This record gives sequence, structure tokens and C-alpha cells, in this order.
Amino acid sequence: MRMSKLFVQTLREFPSDAEVMSHKLLVRAGYIRKLANGVYNYLPLMWRVLKKIENIVREEMDAAGAQEILMPFVQPSELWIESGRWDVYGKELMRLKDRHNREMCLGPTHEEVITSIAREGIHSYKQLPVNLYQIQSKFRDEIRPRFGLLRGREFIMKDAYSFDCDEAGLDKSYEIMAKAYKKIFERCGLETKMVQSDSGAIGGSVSHEFMVLVNENSENNAGENDVFYCTKCGYSANSNHAVSNLAEAEVDGKFKFAKITDTPETTSINELADFLKIPASIICKCLIYVVDGKYVAALIRGDKAVEETKLMNVFAGNDIRIARNDEIEEIMNNSGFNAVAGFIGPKGLKGVEIVADNTVKDLKNFVIGINQKDKHLVGANWGVDVELPQRIADIRLAEENDKCIECSAPLKVTKGIEVGNIFKLGTKYSKAMNATFTDKDGQEKPFIMGCYGIGISRTAAAAVERHHDENGIIWPLSIAPYRVIVVPVSDQDETQMSVAEDIYNKLSEANVEVLIDDRAERAGVKLKDADLIGIPFRITVGKTIKDNLVEFKNRSTGETITITPQEAVEKILNL
Ligand code: ATP
Ligand code: MG
Repeated sequence: MRMSKLFVQTLREFPSDAEVMSHKLLVRAGYIRKLANGVYNYLPLMWRVLKKIENIVREEMDAAGAQEILMPFVQPSELWIESGRWDVYGKELMRLKDRHNREMCLGPTHEEVITSIAREGIHSYKQLPVNLYQIQSKFRDEIRPRFGLLRGREFIMKDAYSFDCDEAGLDKSYEIMAKAYKKIFERCGLETKMVQSDSGAIGGSVSHEFMVLVNENSENNAGENDVFYCTKCGYSANSNHAVSNLAEAEVDGKFKFAKITDTPETTSINELADFLKIPASIICKCLIYVVDGKYVAALIRGDKAVEETKLMNVFAGNDIRIARNDEIEEIMNNSGFNAVAGFIGPKGLKGVEIVADNTVKDLKNFVIGINQKDKHLVGANWGVDVELPQRIADIRLAEENDKCIECSAPLKVTKGIEVGNIFKLGTKYSKAMNATFTDKDGQEKPFIMGCYGIGISRTAAAAVERHHDENGIIWPLSIAPYRVIVVPVSDQDETQMSVAEDIYNKLSEANVEVLIDDRAERAGVKLKDADLIGIPFRITVGKTIKDNLVEFKNRSTGETITITPQEAVEKILNL
């Protein structure tokens, strides 16, 4: 392809609305253009990269025995009503009505559709296992579309769904997908970590995410996930799922007798601890949340934080937020108290479900709110002064240097971009939608399902996050839009131009994806663009051509060598 013909417009500046490098660079280098918030045009260079990722995904999915299909982007509400998700899937689900007033939605995911396909097409255990996948645009009306392709509203996903007779079959399908994913990302030039992750409220399910780790201290914060990992035993988990053991802390307070004590204006744990001159670890914190519209009180040791996904899962919820002050006021009114946030305690709360984190049950002679403003109970004990809630769970956010639950070594934390995930669904959809098959024993049974996603467009952006420098993108060879760019320094110099054309023709004939920068631009502009666009190899034909030499540059190492045009061509062909 000739740069003079290629539809690409590089920009001098980064776009003003971009926060992270992949967004900045993909816009500036002419790969994408925004159409609406979280909705992008993929221009020719981008589309080539996306097709390469798609093809790697296709090859590995096919090799793993999955079969490609394509499901509609628009889905009827009936299926979602059957699965029970029409009412619980929040505002991310883009709903619309057709001319007959029938409700539809733009597919944010395809479990319902695939389950209906299996229900119609699979009747016997003899047809199982099956794994069907597609590469398709998804639409999610994300609350905060940001970071360009990393979190769009419309984006490209590969989604696969496996159907098995039993749990053992699912385990196998899951294992096969885990292996395929590892290969896919490796082939895309991306190192990933497979980490345990939240699998929602459906008890017992298993899921893993594939994370591209990004340095927290890099110039941006593209990694939206905190990944905890153990350097010793390999345990790793998303913060929404990470479990840890704690280092020893003081949990027996200095007040040996229960006493209501004035603690004026101590609305935060730190203020309370400072005021009483105690460590936060002997305070029992009580936080009020709203889970699916219902009030929940979460008790946790004063020095620890609540992990909201874990808390939400305790109540099988879909939505969680911290309660507003007016809601706390309402709870106080209903319970006959008049305290404000900071003085709330579990005792006597009406219309509130209570859950205690594992950390609070060991507390002795601790400090706790009693729903009286500017007062706390000090020296409290479970069973004597306050009842220990019946519901006890792990709702704690792990912290760096907590002890690994597997081997007790200290945990580390880093930022990660989730590029894919695999999920044991079990019978969640097949049961709800009555999708069954006849098993060996003649019994009608629901399919045992798994689902497996890869963000195609997010993977491209993650590759840019991992591979760039101050001059631009550095594509991994396997997903670069072109492998080589031939740059004649001066388009006025006949020798330079003819050698460049010759190299270009030879590479083209050998089916190498090659660009030639034949534009009437200054050398500086052409070289800058080549770096910005991120083509892995550059062959520059300049003045040294009089000695039959060209410059061969490796974009990723920055290494430059001077060789003959023939050698340059051979070097590329030998890659
Ligand atoms: P996230 O937690 O990042 O919102 P998710 O858990 O909702 O992701 P899935 O529904 O499992 O993700 O989707 C599968 C894959 O699709 C994800 O692993 C991710 O790579 C990609 N993906 C999800 N949401 C988006 C988005 N808004 N923009 C781009 N890619 C996305
Ligand atoms: Mg999401």
C-alpha cells in the first residue's frame, strides 16, 4: 500500500478528551475516530489490526474444536424475559421498540440467544459437547465509557458458549478454553495473567479473567482492575474476589468494661481512633449500603475496607452503592434513633439486613456505634452488649502485604486490563430457559454451560498500552497493520525512489504486508509518521544509496543497521 493512497490522517497533537496512551495514540496515529461517546470508527489501519486479532482468535478457537456462528446484534425482549434478565440487567442494556411496539435490545452479550439455539438444535447427549462462538459487535450503555477502545459502548467481542452433559464435561471445556486463551494472547504479543475473579451471586461458580498487567506508576491509569498475586505460590485474583489472611493486629481493646462514651464529632474511623487514642483495629465499623434498593449494614474491622462486589454477592444483588445521608436519616427515623453517619451501629436497626465480615467476630472489648449522635459504646463484647450478626462472610477488600491464603507469603498488587474471561455458568440459563437434552439414562436434563469472552477491540488497545514509547505505537509483529514501511527520504531523488519502489515491489510480490511512503513530504514528517503508526520494521532509502546502502530499523528495539537493499529484503523475508 502506498502512503499517498492510504486513508490515514495523523494528527500533530493528542486529542484533548483522551486520558490514556492507547486512546491518545490510536486517535493521533489515525487508527480511530470518535463518532459518539464510547462509539468509534475503525479506520483502515485499525481494521487491519482488528482483523489480525480476530484471525488469531479464530484459528485458536477452531483448533480448540469450537465452531463459528454469527448471531443477530438486535435481540427480542422475550428471550431476556425468559432468562429473568430483562428486569435485572441495568441501564447498560440498550432497549428499543420496533414499529410494532415490540421491545428489543442491542446485544450486550448473547447467553439468551445461544441458549435458544441450543434448545432448538440439541436434543440428545450424543450431540454434546458443543462449543459455538462468534465475533460480533456488542453494545453496552456503559455508565462511564472512557479510555477509547478500552471501555467503549460499542465494541467488538469474541464470545463462545460451551454445552456439556455434566460438570466433568464443563471442566474439560473450560480447561480447553483456558489453554486456547493463553495461546491467543501470546500470539497477539501480550503477556497475560489468568486470575480468579468474581462470578456473581450464583454460588459455586468459577471464573477467571485474563489480565494484561500494566504498571500503576506509568503515565496513566488504564488498568481498571487491581490484581492481587502471590510471588511464591502463583495465587492470583481480581480484587473483587481476592481472599487473604491478615497479619496479627490488636483486636482486644483497652476498655475492659462496657460504657457509653462521648465521642463528639468523630464521624470518621480515624477521628474516632485519634480521639480515644486506640488503634482502628479495635473499632467495629458499621456502613450502610443500598443493594438492589434494600438497606444493608456491613460490619467490618475499623482498619479494613469493604469490597462492594463481595458484599453485593452476599445478597445475590445486581447493584450496590453506599447509602446517602437522607437514607440513613430514614433508617434512623424508622428505628427510633437520630444518629448520623459515623455513629451508626447494628443494634436496634429496623428494615436493614446485617452482615458481618470475618474480621469482626474476633473483636473483644471493642468500640462500636450505638445510633446515638456523638457517642460510642467502648469495651463492647459480642453476645453481652451487642449480638454478633448471624450472617458472617468475607466482605473485605484485600490489601498489599496481606498473607496469601494458600501459602502465607505476602501478596502484591498491580493494575490490570481485563482482555478476556472464562466462566462456568452451569445451568443458570439452561434451567431458566428450559433448554434440555435427553441424557444416556433417558432423563431430560438442562445443559451445563460455560461462556468465554475476549474483547477484540480492547485487546488491540491493551497491546498499545503495553507497547509504545514517546514516539508512538510499537505493534507486536503478529498484529501490526503492516510489517514493513519503506521510506525514500526524498521523493525528488530518482535513485532513492527507484530503489524504494524496487524493495516495495519485491516485498509485495512475496506477500509481505508493506507500505511505501511515496508522499511528497519532508523526510522528518515521514519518519515521524512511521514511528507514530508503529510499523515494526522501517527501511529508509537516503543518501547512502550511492554506496548501495539503506537503513534498516527495528521499531521495538530501536536498533538501526546499514545494509544493502538486497540484504534488507532478505532480512524481512527470513523473519
Ligand atoms: P468489565 O468488567 O471490564 O466491564 P465484563 O466483565 O463486563 O468486563 P464480559 O461481559 O465478560 O466483560 O465481556 C468479555 C470481554 O469483553 C471482557 O473481558 C473485555 O475484554 C471485553 N469488554 C467488556 N466490556 C467492554 C467495553 N465496555 N469495551 C470494550 N471491551 C469490553
Ligand atoms: Mg462490564
